[in-house]
Amino acid sequence: MSLLVVGSVAFDSIETPFGARREVVGGAATYFALAASYFSDVGVVGAVGEDFGPEHMSVLQRRNIDLSGLERLEGPTFRWSGRYSYDLNSRETLDTQLGVFEGFHPRIPEKYREPEFLFLGNIDPDLQHAVLSQVKRPRLVGCDTMNFWIEGKPEALKRTLSLVDVLVINDSEARELAKEPNLVKAAARIRGMGPKTLIVKRGEFGAAAFGATSPFAVPALLLDSVQDPTGAGDSFAGGMMGYLGANASSTIGDGLMRRAIAMGSVMASFTVQSFGVEGLLDLTPGQIEQRYAELKALSHLEAD
Ligand code: AMP
Repeated sequence: MSLLVVGSVAFDSIETPFGARREVVGGAATYFALAASYFSDVGVVGAVGEDFGPEHMSVLQRRNIDLSGLERLEGPTFRWSGRYSYDLNSRETLDTQLGVFEGFHPRIPEKYREPEFLFLGNIDPDLQHAVLSQVKRPRLVGCDTMNFWIEGKPEALKRTLSLVDVLVINDSEARELAKEPNLVKAAARIRGMGPKTLIVKRGEFGAAAFGATSPFAVPALLLDSVQDPTGAGDSFAGGMMGYLGANASSTIGDGLMRRAIAMGSVMASFTVQSFGVEGLLDLTPGQIEQRYAELKALSHLEAD
C-alpha cells in the first residue's frame, strides 16, 4: 500500500447559500482518499456503522480505494452537519454525532503495516499516535488537526507532532497552536515542535508552505461557481499526498513538494464546485492536467 489515510467516514448534512444536502457520504478520509485515488493506490482506516450500506460503500469502491481497513461496527455512522455563510468563508457546525467513532480504536491490517506515505486525518491525537505505533516508519507522515484537539489535548498532540513530517492545518489553527498571531513566526514555532514542513490552508486564498527553504504560496483557483467548500482541506491534503505517492521514486525535494501542494489546490477546486464528494467522482486525467495548467498561469510572471 503506497498511501494510507486514517480518519472519518461520515454522513454529512450541508447547507450553503446555493442549496442543501442531507446525509450524504462525506468525512475527512473519504475526501482525502477520493482526491488521492487519481494519483496513488490508497487505503482507508476508519469505521462506519451498520447504516452505511453497499450504496454508500460504492462511492469509495468506484475509485478503487482499498477498504480492508474500514471497520463496520455496531451503531450509527459518524454524522456531521454544518451551515456556511453567504461568502462561504465561515461555517457553523450545527451538530456532530460521533456514533461508532466514539469507541473507535484504529487497528491497522497486516497488509497496511508498511505504508510509504501515511496521513493522519483530524482525529484524537492519541489515536493518531496509536496508528503511528502500528506501522513501520513511513517515508513521509502527514497530519491534520483542529482547534478542538489543540485546546483539549495539547500534550497528546505535541507527542504526535514530534513524529510528523508535514502538518496541514488552517490559518486560525496555526495561530492557536503556536500562540502567535503572525503566521511566519507561528510557522517557525510549529516547525520547532516536529513537522519539517507546515502547510497553512487559507481557504479561497490558497495555501502557504513553510519548510527549510523560502516559503511557498499557491493560490486557489478563481472559479465562477463555488457550491460547497466542505472537504476542501481534506481534498487538498489528498491531492498533495497522492501526488507525492505517484512520484515516490524521486527524492522529496522542494520542487516536488511545491508541485504536490499545487496539485492539492487543484483537487480542492474540483471539490468546492459541487456538493459533497460529487466533484471528485468522475474526473479525467485531462481535466486535472488542464486545471493544473490554469493554476500555473494564474500567477505566472513574464520576464521583462
Ligand atoms: P473540511 O471541510 O476539510 O474541514 O472537512 C469536512 C469533513 O470533516 C466533513 O466531511 C465531516 O464529516 C468531517 N468532520 C467534521 N468534524 C469532524 C470531527 N470532529 N472529526 C472528524 N471528522 C470531522
